[in-house]
This record gives sequence, structure tokens and C-alpha cells, in this order.
Amino acid sequence: MKWMGRRESSNVDDRRGMSGGAIAGGGGIAGIVIYLLYTFLSGGSVDTSEITRQVQPGASQTLTAEQQAADEQRAKFVKVVLADTEDVWNKLFSENGSKYKEPTLVLFRDAVQSACGTASAASGPFYCPGDNQLYIDLSFNEDMQNKLNAPGDFAMAYVVAHEVGHHIQNLMGTSEKVQRLRQQLSEGEYNKYSVKLELQADFYAGVWAHHAQNMQNILDPGDIDEALNAANAIGDDRLQKQATGYVVPDGFTHGTSAQRMYWFKKGFETGDIKQGDTFNDPSLN
Ligand SMILES: [Zn+2]
Repeated sequence: MKWMGRRESSNVDDRRGMSGGAIAGGGGIAGIVIYLLYTFLSGGSVDTSEITRQVQPGASQTLTAEQQAADEQRAKFVKVVLADTEDVWNKLFSENGSKYKEPTLVLFRDAVQSACGTASAASGPFYCPGDNQLYIDLSFNEDMQNKLNAPGDFAMAYVVAHEVGHHIQNLMGTSEKVQRLRQQLSEGEYNKYSVKLELQADFYAGVWAHHAQNMQNILDPGDIDEALNAANAIGDDRLQKQATGYVVPDGFTHGTSAQRMYWFKKGFETGDIKQGDTFNDPSLN
């Protein structure tokens, strides 16, 4: 994807330097005491950057300079993707006579608090309808490459666009409708609706790619294949087979690899938001 030097979204809440949970926080304080004691006893000078690191466990404690630089690149990349989704969805909403409410992206490391509860990096990227925020631990990018066999920058762009897709569903009232059904349906029946929601988010990711390409010419050769490969790699069937120890990224059920690829592609080829009605699609009933 052509992203270098392009606009980065400012709707970003960067919590990578913050403690995610009580355990990490406790360790950090103990760390400072030990470090200060050590400095005091050894007569060495106090390195404030070390203290800052101890105060903010998880900030850069475990990352080498090289890893940190890579992390920064990834952060820049997702900010550009988010900016692209803003451009596209602002345009599509205003064409429909409504106004797009831009979501906030929370970048975190290890663990994070959201209106949907506490999440760890292991739960993968997710969207919380309760606070209109997307949550991404950038280490997921590495895992896609190394554990899920879904490499390429556009694979990550697809993931961001999919989470934004859930935001679109939230704005359109679709998530709420499905949530209401949850009380009335058995778990098996509800799962079907959960799949429809996920596939529609894939469809919206495709719609985004279609318009982002038309508006900004963002695609490199092979990008769409990277997204399709990622959709293929993180389908429920593949995930279960692989048993990577990964919790399935947001939601419970996402649809098969073939279904995910189909809906992303349909969105990308049509660019027409009206064609993403997974709820009334005969193949999904
Ligand atoms: Zn999802």
C-alpha cells in the first residue's frame, strides 16, 4: 500500500506507554524502588529515562530500539489507514445525506480497559460499540505474519478497515438490532447473526478499499491478494484447525475462510454499500 508521507489520523489515543493492568503497575513501582536503591548504593547517576520506563511498564521495557522503530512504523501505518477510512466514510455518508462520526483508535500494548471490559493483546484487534473505539495492539501485525501466515501491509489495513466496518454497523444501528436478538435466540441461532455481522464488516472493508483506491490510488500490486489471504487465514475454520492459541479476533464467530474472502471481494468489486446485506442473503440462512 502506498502510505508513506500521507495524512495520519488524529483520532488516535496512544496508550502504548501506559500500564494495562494492576499486575504490571505493581511490578513497575517495585522496579523503581529497586532501581533507585541500586543507583544509590552503587553511587551511579540516575538515568531518568530508565525510571520513566519503570513507571510505565510495557512502554519500552521489553522492546529493543529496533523493535521500537518497527512499532512506530506500524503505528504510523495504521494511522494512515484510519485517515483513509475517514476520507471514504465521510464521503459515502455525506452522499447519503448523513454525517459520519469518526471513531477513535486506541493503540495499546499488552492489556487495555474499554467500555466493553478489559482486553489483552491475545484477544486481537476489536471494536467496542459502547465507546465507539477501535482497539489495536500492534503486535497483532507481527502475529499475522508469523503465526497466522497473513503477511503484507495490506493484510493489516484490511484488519483496521474491518474494525471500522463494525463502527459503521454501530452507526447504522445494525449492531444494536443484533444485540437485541441475542436475548431472544439460542446460542446456535445467535451465532448465525454473529457471522452475518462479521461478514458484513468484511464487506465494508472491501467497500473502503474500493473507494480508497478510486480517491487516492493507494494500492500496490498484490495488496488485494494480501487482504484476501488474511481473510482466508483468519476464517473460523482455519483458525480452529491451526489452534494457534489465539483467541478469535473480536466477536465469537466470523464465518469460514471462503465466506470472508467472498464478502470482502464483493465489497471491493462493487463499492456499493447497499449490496452488503448479509442478513438477507440466502446463502447465509
Ligand atoms: Zn469483526
